[in-house]
Amino acid sequence: MPEQDEFMNLSKMNFDVSEEQTLILEQVDRACKAFRPIEDRFYLDHKINDQVKPFFAGAHLLGLPVSRKYGDGQGADMVTYALAVERIGREGTGLRTFFSVHLALGEMTVQHWGNEEQKERILPPATRGDALLAFGLTEPSAGSDPASLKTYFEEKGGKYYITGQKMWISLGSTARYVLVFAYPKGKREGMCGFIVDTQTPGFKAELIQHKLGLPTADTSTLYLDKVEVNKEDVLGPQGKGMSVALSGLMNGRLSVAAGCVGVIQDCLDESVRYAGVRVQHGKQIGRHQLIQRHIGLMSTNLEAAKLLLLKAAFIKQKYEEDPKNNELRDVTDLACSRAKYFAANASFDAANRAVQIFGANGYSLENRPGRHLADTRVTMIYEGANEIMEQKLALGVLGKGFEAYS
Ligand SMILES: Cc1cc2nc3c(=O)[nH]c(=O)nc-3n(C[C@H](O)[C@H](O)[C@H](O)COP(=O)(O)OP(=O)(O)OC[C@H]3O[C@@H](n4cnc5c(N)ncnc54)[C@H](O)[C@@H]3O)c2cc1C
Repeated sequence: MPEQDEFMNLSKMNFDVSEEQTLILEQVDRACKAFRPIEDRFYLDHKINDQVKPFFAGAHLLGLPVSRKYGDGQGADMVTYALAVERIGREGTGLRTFFSVHLALGEMTVQHWGNEEQKERILPPATRGDALLAFGLTEPSAGSDPASLKTYFEEKGGKYYITGQKMWISLGSTARYVLVFAYPKGKREGMCGFIVDTQTPGFKAELIQHKLGLPTADTSTLYLDKVEVNKEDVLGPQGKGMSVALSGLMNGRLSVAAGCVGVIQDCLDESVRYAGVRVQHGKQIGRHQLIQRHIGLMSTNLEAAKLLLLKAAFIKQKYEEDPKNNELRDVTDLACSRAKYFAANASFDAANRAVQIFGANGYSLENRPGRHLADTRVTMIYEGANEIMEQKLALGVLGKGFEAYS
């Protein structure tokens, strides 16, 4: 059973932050502080924030988990990466989603599965912000069950032609490359992952309007009409697209978990600040015990979520160093899912409590708790909805013989 794996033993983990890690985290902190007023403006105007790419490219943060061999790659280990994304998550789930998609679902997936030619072609411009990456798995009728996707490819004259529709794709309208998953025409097996250049004829993207939250983030529908791709654009072994997609989601879940820890931290910080200045019934509301209950609970969830995150990041780093170890992959997958599941729920709970502490002021998007409440809701849906995570975590204990479906 994966639970018995030596990497699950907390006492063997070392979360000390080295001098090099500290430098990266300080750089992230400075960038986040400088970026806050920009994101605030776009948020209140309900506009896609087109400053994220140039700003964070300028701060050299778009290649954090990528090897230094490629462009502006910073070669951060997974613990440093998780702590960096945690800091970004405090700024909001819209901004953090940009990082999760470009860096985790995009760069990390290409780094893991790409051949050398693909890595040299895609990663340098990606790390410099010259080419954003997106991840196109979900379709109108295929969400939690990606095996049911309908997008297909045909082979003609040594090229592939992809046709289908992808939905709810983050960065879909701004990315230069999208990792698209499709079946061979007329088949329900042999899924392939492709690196699709969005400038190819037949590719169209359309922004999704009227979302519940994430107003600054690009979420799009993609239409592919016989989009031509070369054989060199198949990502990972032919027919192994599902494995590529699942490993991308594992990267994404670690990133979502990190961002949610950041949300809890920001909700707690804001709540503590407000509880210290707001006076009702003759005293700071922080002196009322029912307000203290919210703060005690949030701080406990923060610590629990952070420990699960660090544990997942530590195990993920071991897997990065030993990528052919399938048992370790399964252990990592469970750890990332658990961290994501807990942090997503705890972040929504923290945002809800922070709104309550702020009272009517919590109901205004001018204050951070209300934005977190609207924005972090999506973390219980994307990259594995809560129910899917619950089943996965249960199977980690019960064993695969208890699978409800395969
Ligand atoms: C803002 C946003 C950004 C996104 N970005 C991306 C992206 O960049 N790339 C991408 O590919 N996708 C993206 N998604 C899509 C996201 O990953 C899917 O929404 C998610 O996988 C859930 O799929 P679904 O919405 O189709 O829900 P469904 O799969 O239709 O599920 C509906 C409900 O049924 C439950 N359910 C489904 N199957 C089961 C089961 N077997 N047992 C119990 N309950 C079940 C679900 O948990 C959920 O509660 C994004 C979504 C949003 C909202």
